[in-house]
Amino acid sequence: MTTQIPSVPLLDGTSIPQLGFGVFLVEPDETERVVIEALEAGYRHIDTAKIYRNEEGVGRAIAASGIPRDELFITTKLWNRDQGAGKAADALDRSLERLGLEHVDLYLIHWPCPRNDVFVETWEQFPALRESGRTRSIGVCNFLEEHLERIIGATSVAPVVNQIEQHPWLQQPELAAYQQRHGIRTEAWGPLGQGKIPLGELEPVAAAATAHGRTPAQVVLRWHLQRGVIVFPKTVRPERMRENADVFDFELSADEMRAIDALDRGEAGRQAPHPDDFNFEVD
Ligand code: NAD
Repeated sequence: MTTQIPSVPLLDGTSIPQLGFGVFLVEPDETERVVIEALEAGYRHIDTAKIYRNEEGVGRAIAASGIPRDELFITTKLWNRDQGAGKAADALDRSLERLGLEHVDLYLIHWPCPRNDVFVETWEQFPALRESGRTRSIGVCNFLEEHLERIIGATSVAPVVNQIEQHPWLQQPELAAYQQRHGIRTEAWGPLGQGKIPLGELEPVAAAATAHGRTPAQVVLRWHLQRGVIVFPKTVRPERMRENADVFDFELSADEMRAIDALDRGEAGRQAPHPDDFNFEVD
């Protein structure tokens, strides 16, 4: 293991490695190799989803690695078409079959799809999934405050995380503050702006990179980590896997953190669909 990745506590008493490895857009036939390389680089937390169509490759990599299951943290997600009454247990079982696992560590609702408005009845099934032992923890992605309010109101069970688009151009401070008040951890997806944001051209990022002798990607990952956010950057390149994990031996100053905070563009900085607009039928 090349690096020690710290874990952070979740509100249900479990814990999660604060830095993991995401596999969105990793080709199914490349996934086994890529995840094996990520595990060799020291990652122990893998973030996949049914819709990524690469759960099988993640599972093969886990089996090939020989790493004890209790040293790994595996997240997958319930896809939009599997929302609605009575469907969640089967969706989770199918994911477990593809992964070749007895349980995942975290199972998430992938999008709220508020126009279809069945996320509350979907969430109502989640506590039983946790009680069955087939997932250790339960959470959501892409939920706005009003969606979180509704699922907590209906079940009195808060998700342990909300996984949202977050990077220097889209910081969602009000949502993050709401989540902090409720003990819900923020997971940042697209932590590097999905490669669409010129990180090296952002002045405070470039300045901190020069000051610390690091890359712009390392500075941005460090900024997330110092905010207490959980990240799992994606790359298929082993040298970038090592680079992205090598962020635990330097610290941004309060001024450097504030300068990156000031890059927030609000809604104009969003790179992916707004959660209210995401189409249920995409599959
Ligand atoms: P990301 O911000 O991790 O960006 C990945 C891209 O950044 C790469 O393709 C590459 O172009 C670039 N990159 C990676 N490392 C780099 C480095 N060291 N230097 C320069 N460029 C680098 O975007 P992502 O993959 O979309 O997000 C991370 C993970 O979040 C995904 O893999 C997935 O697991 C999860 N995710 C979840 C949702 C959701 O709706 N819940 C949506 C998107 C992604």
